[in-house]
Formats: sequence, C-alpha cells, structure tokens
Amino acid sequence: MDNLTASKICSKCRVDKTLAEFNKQAKSKDGHEYYCRPCKREYVASNKKRYSAYSQKWHAENAERKAKLQRAWVGANSQSKAEWQSKWKSDNAERVREYHNRRRALIAGTRAEVVDLGAVWEQSQAACYICCEIIDADLPHPDRMSKSLDHIIPLSRGGLHVAENLAYVHLICNQRKNARLLDL
Ligand SMILES: [Zn+2]
Ligand SMILES: [Zn+2]
Repeated sequence: MDNLTASKICSKCRVDKTLAEFNKQAKSKDGHEYYCRPCKREYVASNKKRYSAYSQKWHAENAERKAKLQRAWVGANSQSKAEWQSKWKSDNAERVREYHNRRRALIAGTRAEVVDLGAVWEQSQAACYICCEIIDADLPHPDRMSKSLDHIIPLSRGGLHVAENLAYVHLICNQRKNARLLDL
C-alpha cells in the first residue's frame, strides 16, 4: 500500500482521512496515531482544561485548609513543638492510609464498569496531559518518565474509574499531582 495515498478512519471523528492527516507514531501498526491531528489536539486540550478547572478549585479549597491549619498551629503553640509535630505526623499517616483505602474502595465499587486500558492508552495518544510531553511506553516502571495511569479528576474528589476520566501520564507527573492531593 502506498503510504501517501493510504487513508484510514479517525477513531474519534470517524472521518476517513489520508495518513498525512495523522501524527506519526512509530509504534502503531500503520505508523500513525489513531486520532487525526485536529482530534488529537482537541483531546489533549480538553483533558488539560478539565484538569486546570479541577486544579483551580483545589487551590481555592487548599487555601482555606491552609488558613485553618495555621489557626490550629497558633492554638497548639502552647504545646512543645516536638509534641505537636509528632501528633501531626500520626494524624497525617492516618490520612494517607485513609486516602489509599478510599481509593481502593472506590475502584472496587466501580469495578462493574470494566475499563479497556488499551483504549485509554490509544486515547492518550502517547501524550501526557499534565506536561504535554510524549510518553515512551517502553520505559519500565519506576522510571520517572514511564507511563502511569491517572484519574484526571481524582477518585478522592469524586472522579470515577471510567475510561472518560482516565488518561496516561508520566509517573513523575502523576506522583507530583498525588503529592499535592496529600499536601495540606
Ligand atoms: Zn478525527
Ligand atoms: Zn508528564
């Protein structure tokens, strides 16, 4: 088949387009992505937009939480610093555990909806929506640039374990996002 005249159907807009209208992707069967260029751009942009809306909301909530914590700190000032710190640590450990438990429970609760991770990877089009850089699927975990499954709106914030809310990102980008979630 002649690559210049070959065409295929974009898996997003379902329009038959020439291969030249798809970004190159060495690892796919025909050497091109599944989404045509405009669909790919739209897909990455919409994930990014969803995340930034969520992120803004998170920042607002976080500011409130920080102010509360500051007030608590002033209140706790009569206690010794070491005492207060060790209390904070054990409170925090509990929160971390609870976060993971809730996450597991949430995934288990929505397991009826079986997510096709191959399709999610296809959708992600090898681009991390957090930093917009390419993801190399061959990098083994825990390489910081290896691929990692991410809930765009975190489960702990009401996001669902469904394909629509899943995307692949770099491990390091995922870890940074999760660290922010646990950060007071
Ligand atoms: Zn398309
Ligand atoms: Zn990234």
